[in-house]
Amino acid sequence: MVAESYYDTLGVPKNAPEKEIKKAYRNLARKYHPDVCKDEGAEDRFKQINEAYSILSDAEKRRQYDQLGHEAYTNASKGSYSGAGNANYGFSSDFSGFGDIFDTFFGGQNRRGGPQRGSDLLMRVSVSLRDAVFGIDRDVRVMHAEACPACDGSGSANKRQTTCSRCGGSGQMRSVSQSLFGQFVRMTTCTECGGKGKIPEQVCQSCGGSGHTQVQRTVTIHIPAGVESGMRLRMEGYGEAGDYGAQTGDLYIEVMVESDDRFDRKGDNLETGVEITPAQAVLGSEVEIETIDKRKVNLRIPSGIQYGTALRIPGEGVRRRGRSGDLLVRVIILTPKNIDAEIKELYEKIRELEGTIEGKDSGSKGKKGFFDKVMGR
Ligand SMILES: [Zn+2]
Ligand SMILES: [Zn+2]
Repeated sequence: MVAESYYDTLGVPKNAPEKEIKKAYRNLARKYHPDVCKDEGAEDRFKQINEAYSILSDAEKRRQYDQLGHEAYTNASKGSYSGAGNANYGFSSDFSGFGDIFDTFFGGQNRRGGPQRGSDLLMRVSVSLRDAVFGIDRDVRVMHAEACPACDGSGSANKRQTTCSRCGGSGQMRSVSQSLFGQFVRMTTCTECGGKGKIPEQVCQSCGGSGHTQVQRTVTIHIPAGVESGMRLRMEGYGEAGDYGAQTGDLYIEVMVESDDRFDRKGDNLETGVEITPAQAVLGSEVEIETIDKRKVNLRIPSGIQYGTALRIPGEGVRRRGRSGDLLVRVIILTPKNIDAEIKELYEKIRELEGTIEGKDSGSKGKKGFFDKVMGR
């Protein structure tokens, strides 16, 4: 089944401006809101509409969505979990492999009272150009906080929490200070409950009451074909555990595409070079080109090709959304340096026929090109 695109969900064209998307969303959301619409499937529809709007209303997300296409974009945010359930691996020693930098971002918590959502994690993964072109599944090891299994994340051995008596459950404390200008009231995070508003009834022995345990997991991430450097994939719910009862953060995978020594990427096209002799350039030729997935394809070089001309091999570029870019092969004419006597004789003959013999009549015939001027400095 082909999934409906977010544009179809909102019933807008692909190039719809932000305003139109907003308007379409408002109308549909009003129509399908579960409080209003009692039709079967209305709630699902409402969710789809919201999902579509959350992507298309965000310029950056929309750009990625447009680039990757519906399927790749939505698949990228689905992952799978496997591996080591036991906690507390050495962080630095075990955390080699693919990811190199690992940190918390999005500023983590907004310090209001009450249970806080877990932090998002950001991890950078580098892939070869080839893997970026075709897409690849990668296993990455993630060290993150999960709910302590002994207490279910409550921090309390009997899984019961009591309202913090110091802050009365708000997670905040008022501190009042006097100054020359009057009384200052500042709100600070409650020191008793750390802002959670609740404290464990019986402190859990496994986690010391935090409700969290550090666990290393292997997460399989699907890097979609056509991914570009700097793109972020979101793995929902793979970040840090939040406070008891709150949402887990997300894991963001930032993809870095390594440069390749044979291919350059220009949008959906790939570029490479081929070296040919002057004779091949003059007379034309056929050469073998290795594609990025190491297949050999034949490329016909027309006679009279000029240095630097790009020849196109269709369909051998970056594959994205079922469409392929092209492979552009730039022609580099190499001047031979060590030639045997016979070839030398032939070149001398050519030069004679061209009338470009140095010091003779080259000047009068004007055959000396601008290169002579540049090189003669
Ligand atoms: Zn615990
Ligand atoms: Zn408190």
